[in-house]
Amino acid sequence: MSESYDYDLFVIGAGSGGVRAARLAALDGKRVGVAEGHRIGGTCVIQGCVPKKFMVYASEVSHHLKVAEGYGWTIPEAHFSWKSFIECKDIEIARLSGIYAANLAKAGADVFHAHGRLKDAHTVELVGKDRTVTARTILIATGGKPWVPDALPGIEHAITSEEAFHLSDLPRSIVVVGGGYIAVEFAGIFAGLGVETTLVYRGPNILRGFDDDVRAHLAGELERRGIRVVLGCQHAEIRKEGDRLISVMETGQSFESDQVMFATGRVPNTHDLGLEAAGVTLTEGGAIAVDAFSRTSVPNIWAIGDVTDRMNLTPVAIREAVAFHQTVFRDTPSRFDYEAVPTAVFSQPPVGVVGLSEAEARKAVGPVDIYLTRFRPMKYAFMGLDERTLMKLVVEPESNRVLGVHIVGPDAPEMIQLAAIAVKAGLTKAQWDATCALHPTAAEELVTLREKQPVLDMAG
Ligand code: FAD
Repeated sequence: MSESYDYDLFVIGAGSGGVRAARLAALDGKRVGVAEGHRIGGTCVIQGCVPKKFMVYASEVSHHLKVAEGYGWTIPEAHFSWKSFIECKDIEIARLSGIYAANLAKAGADVFHAHGRLKDAHTVELVGKDRTVTARTILIATGGKPWVPDALPGIEHAITSEEAFHLSDLPRSIVVVGGGYIAVEFAGIFAGLGVETTLVYRGPNILRGFDDDVRAHLAGELERRGIRVVLGCQHAEIRKEGDRLISVMETGQSFESDQVMFATGRVPNTHDLGLEAAGVTLTEGGAIAVDAFSRTSVPNIWAIGDVTDRMNLTPVAIREAVAFHQTVFRDTPSRFDYEAVPTAVFSQPPVGVVGLSEAEARKAVGPVDIYLTRFRPMKYAFMGLDERTLMKLVVEPESNRVLGVHIVGPDAPEMIQLAAIAVKAGLTKAQWDATCALHPTAAEELVTLREKQPVLDMAG
């Protein structure tokens, strides 16, 4: 009986997923409470997608200035003020966080600024508030946090993405550690802002899990933009000498810099959540274990978003929240479909991807047809820049369906959002080709790719 509980739904974590679920339930007239231990909006708004994209915008300006010179503009020496940028960014983030908070209030949800900890399957302790609340349904949406190798000598001198958003000064040089999208994006941000940037990654190439042509192409383009990319090498130690940090690598190499930033992965935020007390089980990787409907091992406790470590993206957390709401409050069992989710890397140049990589497609369906082009973007014609755009389609020969689209180049994320409609709809290469080109654009290449890549003789 819902009447015996304080709330119909209590949400722990007011990030992308938690806020959406709380609002939808509250708008249905349910009694909803939310606990947030940091700031309303979560990773995406406070220290993820949104401030990161502002940093990318700020950083890209240096490239636009070079393009402008190619077009005949004479621009006096340009100066960038990190302090004024950070100030403007913080004002905008506070505004957005305020909108999230206002929307929760408007929907009728109660917000508690406190760390939430489960006491049992229906009770949440609001730590530091000397208060507990009870709820018929509990949703855990506590997101993730950066992982760093705690045992590395000198790791205390390094920052993560969380501190990178609040540096008091722009460093003159930085070593960014990691090969995932966050490392690659921040390397681009710093390099664009004029910081001498080294990207070090222990693996054979950046962006593990992406299509191999994308990985190789982007690594080359990052170097062209002035980033030193050092692969196959990891830290043995970080030594502080005066104001400088010395990254001593296991290979014997060393790099000196003002800052070292670790972007070596993220882990689900399950710390001090009282999961054991409530009987909620974890996966081997430490995420909250859920079924396809986001229900945990305890029937009235659900979990969505990064804390479940399924596909750690804001729109996915939001869609999991919508499916949860449909399932629990609208009596319509719903699950999110993880196929053909578009993703972007806001590197410089950026990457946009939807569907399967060539290797994944070969594994899934056997031989595939590959259509690939590399070309110099028209915009750079006057600049003597050798930057190239890469576009690649992966097609299943039998059905002629386009299984994957991969783009590295200006506006790739914008293009891929629309390409994702066609991939999600299962359209064939013939249908892509029947679509008239829009000229002159880069995107027209996607509907004018006629030449299949020759099949390589694997023995040779
Ligand atoms: P979050 O948004 O992380 O929210 C969790 C909230 O729970 C936080 O506010 C936290 O303070 C709170 N919390 C945790 N524990 C407790 C507790 N016990 N009690 C109370 N509150 C608690 N995704 C994209 O789609 N595109 C991007 O470009 C992109 N860029 C990113 C860049 C960076 C640097 C990072 C770190 C992430 C990025 N992401 C991006 C990922 C995206 O931010 C996450 O996938 C998304 O925020 C997950 O939403 P969530 O609801 O699961 O958790």
